[in-house]
Amino acid sequence: MGSITLSKVSKSFGDVEVIPPLDLEINDGEFVVFVGPSGCGKSTLLRLIAGLEDLTSGAISIDGADATNASPAKRGLAMVFQSYALYPHMSVRKNINFPLKMAGMDQAEADKRINAAAKVLNLTDYLDRRPGQLSGGQRQRVAIGRAIVREPSAFLFDEPLSNLDAALRVNMRLEICDLHKTLATTMIYVTHDQVEAMTMADKIVVLHDGYIEQVGSPLELYESPVNKFVAGFIGSPK
Ligand code: ADP
Ligand code: MG
Repeated sequence: MGSITLSKVSKSFGDVEVIPPLDLEINDGEFVVFVGPSGCGKSTLLRLIAGLEDLTSGAISIDGADATNASPAKRGLAMVFQSYALYPHMSVRKNINFPLKMAGMDQAEADKRINAAAKVLNLTDYLDRRPGQLSGGQRQRVAIGRAIVREPSAFLFDEPLSNLDAALRVNMRLEICDLHKTLATTMIYVTHDQVEAMTMADKIVVLHDGYIEQVGSPLELYESPVNKFVAGFIGSPK
């Protein structure tokens, strides 16, 4: 579970082609980072995978089944939004329960999942608090918890740490990598931060004006960048 294949996927807004046709293979359990400068199409590509935008052309398959026209809910993927997307008037427990309630899940099963997620995320003692009574890192963990309880086949993160301070960002990076090890679920992580890409990824996808410049492990990109753009962006001396 958690393999995703993009075939000749493109996206235009009006006359402007933001993503020219591209192919990409994401393997089960991989931690994949989309990296590139602001405006290069990272969020658009993630939203195409999530089903939040329609493709202009091409096809997407998830776990071997065609998902090109599947609704976001049917794709079995969970988008993790920045922590400010929490409901301020609801407790942590209710925030995490919200997607399960919307899906009509039996409450006993929902509670089991919430308690398990809280344990993994060190939130057990905070389930009755409201988001305003939590630290920035704890709020980010609640946002992740809301994704975990849905047991998705892949997690999609769009710059989840960009509104946290530098020290907390480093901590949350490690926490997300630990979570990836614990859950062994595919994660796609969008960032414009080269350090995040180099320290977190199994596989980095370098984007530039909607094109994929290179796909490879951090070491491959560092040792054998295909061009000056990749070398410059990754900080390789080559
Ligand atoms: P990134 O996430 O890498 O910063 P985006 O995917 O947000 O980049 O944007 C890529 C390009 O697509 C930008 O030029 C942006 O202005 C354009 N774009 C994104 N969403 C829309 C939209 N809904 N309508 C028109 N243009 C858009
Ligand atoms: Mg973006």
